[in-house]
Amino acid sequence: SPTIGVFALQGDVREHLVALRSLGVDAIAVRRPVELDACDGLVLPGGESTTMAKLARTFELLEPLRERIRQGMPAFGTCAGMILLADRLEDGAPGQETLGGLDITVRRNAFGRQVDSFEGDLDFDGFDAPVHAVFIRAPWVEAVGPGVETLATVPSGPAVGRIVAVRQGQLMATSFHPEVGTDHRVHGTFVDLVRQAR
Ligand code: GLN
Repeated sequence: SPTIGVFALQGDVREHLVALRSLGVDAIAVRRPVELDACDGLVLPGGESTTMAKLARTFELLEPLRERIRQGMPAFGTCAGMILLADRLEDGAPGQETLGGLDITVRRNAFGRQVDSFEGDLDFDGFDAPVHAVFIRAPWVEAVGPGVETLATVPSGPAVGRIVAVRQGQLMATSFHPEVGTDHRVHGTFVDLVRQAR
């Protein structure tokens, strides 16, 4: 079975490891380049995207991550992880770096203060039943390039129609936190991508 890493310098690592292991893959925490080398795919968790990028630079993971993504390693970013995979940011911190790879513009902290954390059911491309999505100071996808598929949008409320899940080739990202709870179908979609890429 494939080995899938979870970027573990900051963020909600443990829930992703649990979700991945429940799907029968070898899941490992990634803090060093040698651990990244062992991975067939990588999850970039939620957390704080500027801190994650700074720590990745400090621990000499930033360039190796960019290189693996360029070479086609499947990667799945959730929330702050979506920000890290974006080629372009709106409302990023001054000088904020990303890994890039996804031809999307992501607006950081997009949902605003009143609704900065909320949850709801949304339709997810290819699923029979809706996904219960938890948003925590989440970004949304402001614009997508031509090669990007939209997998989910906000179904109602002030942010109706906003894109909150995307896929481009072997890269996936969600604004919400699919690792919360016991429904691991979104991780399953990513595991399928990793199996296909092997
Ligand atoms: N607002 C955070 C950031 O900008 C992301 C929040 C999250 O990952 N839950 O990095």
